[in-house]
Amino acid sequence: MKGSFSIGRLFGVDIRIHWTFFLLAGWFAWWGGEGDGWRAAAWALSLLAGLFACVVLHELGHSLVAIRFGGQVQAITLLPIGGVALMRKIPERPLHEFLVAVAGPAVNVALFLGLALIRGGFPSWIAAEPPAGAWQEWLDTLMQANAVMAVFNLIPAFPMDGGRVLRSALSWRLPRDRATRWAAVVGQVFAVGFVALGLYTNPFLAVIGVFIFLGAGREERVVRVRAALRGARVRDAMLADPVVLHPSEPLGRCLELAVHRKQEDFAVEADGRLVGILTRADWAEAIRARGESAEVGSAARRHFMALHPDAPLARVCAELGRMGQPVFPVIESGRLVGLLAVADIERFLALREVRDRPSRSRAAPNRFTIDLG
Ligand SMILES: [Zn+2]
Repeated sequence: MKGSFSIGRLFGVDIRIHWTFFLLAGWFAWWGGEGDGWRAAAWALSLLAGLFACVVLHELGHSLVAIRFGGQVQAITLLPIGGVALMRKIPERPLHEFLVAVAGPAVNVALFLGLALIRGGFPSWIAAEPPAGAWQEWLDTLMQANAVMAVFNLIPAFPMDGGRVLRSALSWRLPRDRATRWAAVVGQVFAVGFVALGLYTNPFLAVIGVFIFLGAGREERVVRVRAALRGARVRDAMLADPVVLHPSEPLGRCLELAVHRKQEDFAVEADGRLVGILTRADWAEAIRARGESAEVGSAARRHFMALHPDAPLARVCAELGRMGQPVFPVIESGRLVGLLAVADIERFLALREVRDRPSRSRAAPNRFTIDLG
């Protein structure tokens, strides 16, 4: 996730903090500072550390169950509204998804009970009795936080865990993309409710509502893209028979081909052998720096990965961000047969939707954006 940095690894999972988490730390410092002096500040900071640990354990709960069912977890990122486990591969069977989703809140319930054991009883929140000393107040607050985390996360709205529980329940009867669409709609109804309620009561709730609204839409988009890519291969989306350049040709030829042939990325071949690739950004920068007469070979990338035309498009799409290469030559039996760029996949998706959902796309074709985050 952009704007986050790593603080270590647990069970092979990268633990990261997003900068906005420090807004919460700031709020804590201000809140703790209202007491008297450094003792109150230290108390507030240790409480934040405790909360931080609970959020990490919640996300680890999800992650370890996901890994148990064949999932791959890349990182856990801490945000002010909680943690996010970035999974590269998510178990999709309804029962597995259900268990992964409830594992997080289950950790909070376990922590709540564990803290109650240490404290020797439950705090009396209703009677509002002042806790006996700072240590007990610390435990009480942490218990309260765990109770809130467990309950709040089970609200049936993406990206809350309850949204996933709802989708897994719907997936028993519906295809996954339709189950996701319904779960996202329910999530967005909750989100609008939170924003409306938050405006009258607590602005923090309104902020959470906005996060949920965006999260629900994003989840729906990711699943829609994955469903649209099902069964598709690289050859279905690639630019077939691309114009190939020779290293000694002038860069001006790229400009000419971009205008007249609408081809913006190129493969570079010498003696029938693929020796480089040239993206639009590469040649545009080289022309600005050295002019149109400079040679293609001087601007081409020599290190690149190639794809096979029968590789599943969904897998390529999932790996695009990690591979960090904007254009791929497509090679079959040692011969260049096409080029594939992110824009080609996006166009393929938009056109496939025209074919699959004619009634929906009559007004305006949906724009697909491949998220490389
Ligand atoms: Zn969770």
